[in-house]
Amino acid sequence: MKQNTNVDLQEIEKFSSYAKVWWDPTGPFAPLHAINPPRLHFIKKHTKLDGKTILDVGCGAGILTESLYAAGAKTSGIDASEKVLNVAMERAKVNELTIDYFHGTIEEYLTRSEQQFDIITCMELIEHVPSPIQLLKNCASILKPGGQFFLSTINRTPKAYLFAIIGAEYVLNILPKNTHQYKKFIKPAEMQKIMQEAGLKLEDISGMNYNPFTKHAKLCNNTSINYLAYAIKG
Ligand code: SAH
Repeated sequence: MKQNTNVDLQEIEKFSSYAKVWWDPTGPFAPLHAINPPRLHFIKKHTKLDGKTILDVGCGAGILTESLYAAGAKTSGIDASEKVLNVAMERAKVNELTIDYFHGTIEEYLTRSEQQFDIITCMELIEHVPSPIQLLKNCASILKPGGQFFLSTINRTPKAYLFAIIGAEYVLNILPKNTHQYKKFIKPAEMQKIMQEAGLKLEDISGMNYNPFTKHAKLCNNTSINYLAYAIKG
């Protein structure tokens, strides 16, 4: 992997170490499984997936990617962790899913492909890269004009610190320790600003609530912890 791409190699090592248990719905990434239905619901509220070309950036082992494919999209996924992406590719092979996976960052992908997409999804990634604006600009660059962009991340509030870091990583052990760094979280107003700078017009924002006791997640009005954003390339 090139050193000058927008990637934190420590983050990649951390995600790689969980590759084998990624798809265990009761494992360390149980919250990713729980938030997948509301994420998909949010996407479907704004677009029809059938026949659309979609790139899932930072796709992990394919939790959302497979759902997009199942909904009829022509789906591609990229991830910087080879170990994690191998799990996604193996599942696609065994289950005969025609998903186009690529190992690498979006910068590396851009040097290999000129494809423009109808939709780009970027879930739970922006809080793990050194430069959020560079990630958004690169996503925007491979969206068709008027293309749709979906993102999910964590707000930077005391409540998010308490629930998403202290509660999830230290008290309840829902997520592995050091999964998140508070200072990397982005507030919705800041997100709107950097999206605009990247040529993406914010159209909708929704809160997402995850209950660690019932392990159930749903969309909600409160964006103080997890939130989803929908933007259009201007
Ligand atoms: N989007 C998936 C996975 C989120 S976890 C989901 O929500 O289900 C974050 C993923 O981003 C990990 O798989 C990690 O390997 C990947 N990642 C981290 N930095 C990256 C980068 N710069 N480029 C591409 N993928 C990256």
